[in-house]
Parts: sequence; C-alpha cells; structure tokens
Amino acid sequence: MLWVGMVAVTIPLATHLWLQYQSLSELQSTLPHARRAYMRKYLSLVIDKVIANYESKADAILDLPPKAFNHTYPNPDYSPMTAIDLSMVYDHFTSHQFRGARLLFAGVISGPKDPTYVTVRFFDPIACTFRYRPTMDERGAAHSASANWMAMIMVESKPSPKSIKLTVDERDPRYRIIVKPIVNESGNVVGVAGMFLKDEVFIQDYLAPAVQGSLAGSFPDEHRDVIVTLTSNDEKLLYSNQKFEGKTYEVGWPMPFIYSDWFLGIRMQKMTEEQWSQRYFITNLSFSLLTSLVLIGGIVLALRTASRSMKLSQMKADFVSNVSHELRTPLASIRVFGEFLKLGRVRDAHKIHEYGEYIETESRRLTQLINNILDFSKIESGQKTYQFEEADIEQVVTDTLKTFEIMLEQNGFRIELEKQARNLPKVIIDSNAIAQAFINLLDNAVKYSGEAKVIKVRLSHNDGFITISVSDHGIGIAKEEIEKVFEKFYRVGNSLVHDVKGSGLGLSIVKHIVEAHDGSVTIDSEPGSGTTFSIHLPCSDSQTSRSQPNQTNRGDAYLGHGLPIGDNT
Ligand code: ADP
Repeated sequence: MLWVGMVAVTIPLATHLWLQYQSLSELQSTLPHARRAYMRKYLSLVIDKVIANYESKADAILDLPPKAFNHTYPNPDYSPMTAIDLSMVYDHFTSHQFRGARLLFAGVISGPKDPTYVTVRFFDPIACTFRYRPTMDERGAAHSASANWMAMIMVESKPSPKSIKLTVDERDPRYRIIVKPIVNESGNVVGVAGMFLKDEVFIQDYLAPAVQGSLAGSFPDEHRDVIVTLTSNDEKLLYSNQKFEGKTYEVGWPMPFIYSDWFLGIRMQKMTEEQWSQRYFITNLSFSLLTSLVLIGGIVLALRTASRSMKLSQMKADFVSNVSHELRTPLASIRVFGEFLKLGRVRDAHKIHEYGEYIETESRRLTQLINNILDFSKIESGQKTYQFEEADIEQVVTDTLKTFEIMLEQNGFRIELEKQARNLPKVIIDSNAIAQAFINLLDNAVKYSGEAKVIKVRLSHNDGFITISVSDHGIGIAKEEIEKVFEKFYRVGNSLVHDVKGSGLGLSIVKHIVEAHDGSVTIDSEPGSGTTFSIHLPCSDSQTSRSQPNQTNRGDAYLGHGLPIGDNT
C-alpha cells in the first residue's frame, strides 16, 4: 500500500514537472516577443500622450481668429499693412503662451490678382514683438510650410473640414514648423498661422515627463532598470532617462506627426529579453524542482515513519509472545518441582536440595524478567528514578555474581572474574540499577553462548572511567545489527537467536541505566567468536554534575534507539 501510495504520488509529480518544463521552455521562447510587444506598447503610449499634449498646445496658440485676416482676394486696394490685424494677432499670441514655440507667424495672400502678394508677419514670443527680423532661411521656410494653404486662399476653394488640421514641415530639421490654416465661418481658408519649434522644450517639457510618468505604472517591478532613449536618424542621442552604456535601444518606435525622423527606444539596463526570460525559466524551474524535492522528502519521511511503526507494532506483537514464553517456562518448572516436593515423591535429600535450587533459580529468572518489564514501563513513562550513592563497584559485581551463581552452575557455565586495578575508585551509582544492567548482560551471555560455556567478567579503571566487561564466546552479533540491539523490543532475527527466549528489552534497559549514570555501553563482537559488552561508568571525582543529590529522575520518556517518539507500550 505504501509503495502504491509512493508511486501514485511520484508519477503525477514527475508528469507535472515534465509539463511544467515543457511550458516553461515554450514560455522562454515566446516571452522575449511578448516583452518586446509590451515595450512597444509602452512607447506608443508615451508617444500618444506627448503628441496629443503637444498638438493641443500648438493648436491653441495657432488658432488665430479669422477676423484678424482682413482681406478679400483679389484685393485691388492692396496694403500689406492692413492685410493682417496685428493687434488681434498680438492679443492672441500673448494670451496663449506655449514654450515650445521659438517663433510665430501669421500669413495671408493679399494684393491684386497679378502679381500675387504674400504677407507674412513674424512674432517673437519671448520678446512679444512683431519687430523680429527673420533670416532669409526662416522666411523661406515659413513660406514653403504655408504654401499649400496659401494656394487654398488663392483659389478660394472650400476644403473639407476633415482636411483642415495642423500640418508639419520638417524638410529642414533646423526649421521644424507647424502650420494651421485659419478658416472663416463660411469654410474658406482666410489665413495661415505657424510656429517654429524649440526642440529642447519638446524633449524636456513634454517627452521626459511622459516617459517618467508612465514608467512605474508600466514596469512596476523593474522601472529602475528601464532605459528610454530618443535618437535622431543619424544615431545621435538626444535624450535618455538614465545613464547607460552600450546599445541605445532594444525596441524602437518612430515619432509620428512631428520629429518624425526621431526614434524613441527602450531597453533593460541589465539584461536582454532573452537573458531575462532565461532567468525566469531557471527561477521557476528551480522553484518547482525544490518544491518537488521537499514533497518527495516528505513522502520518504512518511514512508520511513510508517514502515518503522509497522516494524514497531510487529516487534510489540513478538514481544508479547516472547514474554509469554519466558513466563510460561519457569512457571511450568516451578509448578512441576513444587508438585514433586508436595507429593513427597522425592525423598533423597540431595534431590530435594537440587529441586529447591531449581525453584529458586527459576523464581529469580521470573523476578528478573518482571523487573525488566516494570523498569521498562517506568522508563517509558518517565518515572524511573535512581538512588545515587557512593558505592564500591567491585562489591556490586561480586554480590551480583553470587546471586547468579546457581543458575550459571546449573547451566554448566564457568565465570572468570578479572580485575585490572587493585583498589578501584568509588563510584556514585544506583547499585541496584547497575546490578540489574550487569545481570542483563550476564543473562545474555548465558543465553547466546551456545556450547562455549565460559564467561569472562572484567573490571578495569581507565581515564576516569570504571569499565565492567562481560565477554562470551557465543554466537556473536553481525556488524549491521550492533546498533539495533539497543532498540526496545529488538531481537536479532537469525535462527540462532530464534531458539533463545527473550523479550528484546534487556539491552535497551542497560543502555538507559548506564546513560542515566553519564556512562556508555560499547559492544565488541565477532559473529561466531563471541561478544564483549562493556559498561563504562565515570568515577566519583569526575561525576561533578551528580555528586550531591542522591536521587535523580531522568524524567524524559525513554525513546529506545531510533524508534518513533510517543509510540510507547
Ligand atoms: P533479549 O531478551 O532478546 O535477549 P536484549 O535486549 O537483551 O533482548 O538483546 C537484544 C538482542 O541482542 C538479542 O535478541 C540478541 O539477538 C542480541 N544479543 C544480546 N546479547 C548478546 C550476546 N551476548 N551475544 C549475541 N547476541 C546478543
């Protein structure tokens, strides 16, 4: 089920990743185009804004009253002085200020039919005077810019209202002119108004604010990175919104209506559109990969937890059956020997003694088993307490061995006690607890010794630690099992161990007891040759942390060795 679950999650995840990769790479190739289209849109937005603004200003200042053109053509009473009402024109030009105009003019056809007379009056908007003396070039430019409309005046035709609009003459970029035909009530063109443009005003007063004004709105996250430039057709840079190096623009848009030989361009400061979309691709894909990895990590973790708890529940089931077996055997022996004695079938004093010893040994075994179970339950619930006091470890070991003697003898075991130092230093320990840990090791040595019935107990003192080692020449423990044998309920699963009864609690209790004494347990084992378990306990002088109080409750629930928290039985 778990593996099916894993596959059921992994396949859609992999498919999702693949699809995402596909769509991201597709996006990577289309994004630059989309971004460029967006940039073009931005440029046209700026241009529309600038031109609309500029045009309406120009239109307002050039919108001279038709009455200012005081003529009928052909006019036999030709007088260039009266053809244009200068005071009216003056009033209009001065009341409609427009910084973009360098020079203004009003023109009309006047005089008799032949020859044709053209009157053009120039007005200096800064000095506010008609006394401006235009150069020959300026005069020529004004004439040619208004020539079409002058022709209209001459033929007295009525142009369609749609065709009456501002016109631009940019033939000579030095004299860019906007011209407006002045139409009277009956729809006839009666005069022309025009202006010479001031380029820098167009750039500073109209273009720059429009560029800056729309940047933040159009590029909310990267407006600081956007470079907008204005270049002339000879590639001369006329304006840029910020300093930059390299290419002038990535996307360009020609100016309409006026300055039509200029080019508004845009590009990103740091990256080209291709680089940008590649970064987008990498960022998004990495994010997806990371999310998937976290998800897979979570699944693996969940699987591990599930498999561990399955293992644990299996161990618990085994534990119940193992313990039942362990309880049943000594109980059965006690009952049989007890019955024998009760019925008086055994008369021989030696036999009676022997049976009595059996009953005693088996009862001890039962007590030990029950002690282990009780201890385990206390450890699990965090209620295990220790009575620490200064003790002679040698005494504890020999006393324990004595209680164990009969059982060892019955099983044909020989114990060799070896002491390295004469007077071992005192230790602060809970003697009962250490005795129990030692018994557990001895019991294991007996259980897993097989035919080699010699057990060596060694007491030594080294580096501020006292070591109690229990060595047997039994079945040994495989390398990969060594770490696990300290786990609660854990029993090695090979056939050699299978025949031996056990609860799987002994070593986990040993480990807990020893660690509560700030010590450690080590294993040295060779499968087939035997095992040495060593308990290392710190000597009194090094037990500073626990030297005074004589009772300690290692309150934390015992979690065994690598098993899930909170799964206590
Ligand atoms: P058990 O009640 O099964 O003996 P323990 O916690 O005492 O539980 O031991 C855990 C396992 O470690 C045992 O089942 C056994 O496989 C292994 N083991 C413990 N002591 C020895 C030893 N002296 N020699 C070989 N294997 C041992």
